[in-house]
Amino acid sequence: MSTNINVELNCATCGQSNFDHNEDKSWVKCNNCDREYLGGISELAEFNQSNIQDAVNDYGQSLVDEFAKSLESKFKNNKYIKFKRK
Ligand SMILES: [Zn+2]
Repeated sequence: MSTNINVELNCATCGQSNFDHNEDKSWVKCNNCDREYLGGISELAEFNQSNIQDAVNDYGQSLVDEFAKSLESKFKNNKYIKFKRK
């Protein structure tokens, strides 16, 4: 099952969402303020936990469980991402 949940990720420094990144998004850079996220997309996601949590509220827990599973598999070796389970 695939979901269409989009969580906007914003730069922790300037709040823009205009990013450059390498192929697997293990490195991300903000095009606006040049902040580099050496932890990649997952570090960025850590700064956007509230956006992710908003998506939970908007889409409901069951859809978000799917979304979280797909993210978790993507970031399973990453120490930054932790999803709250109800
Ligand atoms: Zn920025």
